[in-house]
Amino acid sequence: MTVTLGILREYVEGESRVSIVPEIIPKLNALGISVIVESGAGKGSYFTDDMYRSAGATVSEDRDDIFWSSDIIAFVQYPSSDDVPKMKRGSILIGLLSPEKNMGLIDLMDRQGVTAFSMERIPRTTRAQSMDVLTSQSSVAGYVGAVIAAANSPRLMPMLSTAAGTVKPSRVLVLGAGVAGLMTIATLRRLGAVVTAYDVRKPAKEDVKSLGAKFLDIDIEASSAGGYARELTDEEKRRQQEILVEAMVESDVIITTASVPGKKAPILITKDSVERMSPGTVIVDLSADSGGNCELTVRGETVLHNGVKIIGVENPAARMPVDSSRMYSRNMVAFIQLILKDGRIDRGSSDELLVACRVNDSGRVG
Ligand code: NAD
Repeated sequence: MTVTLGILREYVEGESRVSIVPEIIPKLNALGISVIVESGAGKGSYFTDDMYRSAGATVSEDRDDIFWSSDIIAFVQYPSSDDVPKMKRGSILIGLLSPEKNMGLIDLMDRQGVTAFSMERIPRTTRAQSMDVLTSQSSVAGYVGAVIAAANSPRLMPMLSTAAGTVKPSRVLVLGAGVAGLMTIATLRRLGAVVTAYDVRKPAKEDVKSLGAKFLDIDIEASSAGGYARELTDEEKRRQQEILVEAMVESDVIITTASVPGKKAPILITKDSVERMSPGTVIVDLSADSGGNCELTVRGETVLHNGVKIIGVENPAARMPVDSSRMYSRNMVAFIQLILKDGRIDRGSSDELLVACRVNDSGRVG
């Protein structure tokens, strides 16, 4: 085999996912890629060293050696700056690199001669679907949001008719109906909740209704390039708040997923709004990693304010690491195939997807 792929323990604290799971290794071998795994890399997602060995990978304790011998390095997130000097000139690093906050690290890789690809930059096109880590990981995040809400709410989600009387179903409001929001709605509907959802993109209305939820109509259309939302103007924000507050105070649970690419998440729930909610209301903020949709959100923590619980979920996809790692791995293998030609790294490739994801100038891939 001519190409070596390295799988390392994640550097970012609390990251339990692994970039490649054992079951994917035979597929990589069939592509002419040999795989070397740092011992314990799969521990957080319950994939043992023995599982990697049985699948055909080499397991090593020597992190430096893995960097040095790998042509392609796969991360879920990104390495540390101490790792970069150990990387081989001409190698390729792929991960969710958070380029907005990590430009220093990405420049360092450039100076080391390492080409960096950031999977957040995958375009949302039909051709790129198999590599779309944002979609696969957001789907898991949406599911996580619904189950956290169900486990933290003092109310049952479904309607129950029992000899002890009838229990009303929970009323849930979902703010942001993109990939994560739609998965949240689907999961809540399976639990029997009555769901209302809101998004600033009008096309989201049909998606919401197709899942059996009600769409909250506010006369604002903020679709932008690539199917994403744009930031609202101050006047639009004011109009949005007037209507949202009414829906919020009538809800038992609110799950927020709203975000605008490259920007801090919009504040949709102010402190004043929280103070108008009934005690026992639960807010699950799935946008906590990008600043949060609630003014009182603290990333990674649960805040109790006047009896309202505000849960700032950190890295939600990492809460279900077995399946999120599996999905991430499949996306990763599809992406790696773009880089290869006849079992070798294709340094002359100008594939548009590689160009979109490349975040530094080193090498000539893409
Ligand atoms: P995202 O994570 O960037 O944002 C989540 C949701 O928040 C979006 O639906 C957005 O409209 C919404 N939002 C932003 N500001 C808001 C505000 N102030 N109030 C309420 N909601 C707000 O989005 P995403 O889930 O990654 O999806 C982005 C787009 O990509 C969608 O149009 C989706 O349909 C599309 N998509 C396409 C493909 C494909 O074609 N292969 C795959 C996945 C997603």
